[in-house]
Amino acid sequence: MSQAVYGCTVAAGTEPDSVLLPGHDVPLGRFATVRRLLPQQRLRMVGAWCFVDHFGPDDVSGRPGMQVPPHPHTGLQTVTWLVDGEIEHRDSLGSVQPIVPGQLNLMSSGYGIAHSEWSAPDHPAALHGLQLWLALPGPARHGEARFEHHAQLPVIHDGDLTTTVVVGDLGPVRSPAGVYTPVVGAELVLTASGRHRIEVDPSFEHAVLVMSGTARVADADLAPGSLLYLGRGRSQLPVEAREPTRLFLLGGEPFEEPLVMWWNFVGASHEEIVQARQDWQQGRRFGSVAGCGAAPLPAPAMPSVRLKPRDRQGRTI
Ligand code: MN
Repeated sequence: MSQAVYGCTVAAGTEPDSVLLPGHDVPLGRFATVRRLLPQQRLRMVGAWCFVDHFGPDDVSGRPGMQVPPHPHTGLQTVTWLVDGEIEHRDSLGSVQPIVPGQLNLMSSGYGIAHSEWSAPDHPAALHGLQLWLALPGPARHGEARFEHHAQLPVIHDGDLTTTVVVGDLGPVRSPAGVYTPVVGAELVLTASGRHRIEVDPSFEHAVLVMSGTARVADADLAPGSLLYLGRGRSQLPVEAREPTRLFLLGGEPFEEPLVMWWNFVGASHEEIVQARQDWQQGRRFGSVAGCGAAPLPAPAMPSVRLKPRDRQGRTI
């Protein structure tokens, strides 16, 4: 087993790995800053997970909270998970769905969808959560858009550890969320200090982040702001908390298709991204979001260079 810190290569093999990857702060709209943990230069994906933003905990009392105007997506699923707060999702299928902690909003873009995520004026004081994307495999990228809300998810109680299987499979437990590749997304809440072993699928690669508290995971010390990549080949994940701690486990079968990710689009080629941008700017394909009250976000200009498909480790193809 190798252990490394940021700066070393993320191994491609089937051996377990342990690489701590610090995230970076990104402004989101005018009112919020998020911690972006994926994609990173050396690690674009963990399974089909291709985007991980951790926001908060923020005190948003007297402030707008989450204000993401209508914008388009293609080639991905969005996963919204809250620890604190409330956000209202609206999309171009006509879905209007508030989400509160412990619930899942899952939007599958297929070929195209638009949505907004907005805090109501009377929103709770705290806002804390994750915005995650799952890349869609080839055929699903050109498929139908759909939206799912899950108010109830499977929860496993084991002493001081409470595990919620948000997406995919963890051991014998399966989330009802509809996904397109073998993945796992699970929240682990430890209410006291202690050691636990999480049974995981050795054919998956895994990564863990801490949302609050601190933990020692597979011999690495982990605090909010970094992603710990754990490679493949593990059947158990040792987790030790020294205080009440909330973690999120991400994993999946390594995603083999090279992808282009630009703005809110995931595609297989430069041409697909150019087409998606053009369709959004010209009011085609993505539909419109009713009732959000904010103007749709214009797409930024395309970069002057061609976008190259990259594999999961950031290598151009
Ligand atoms: Mn979005």
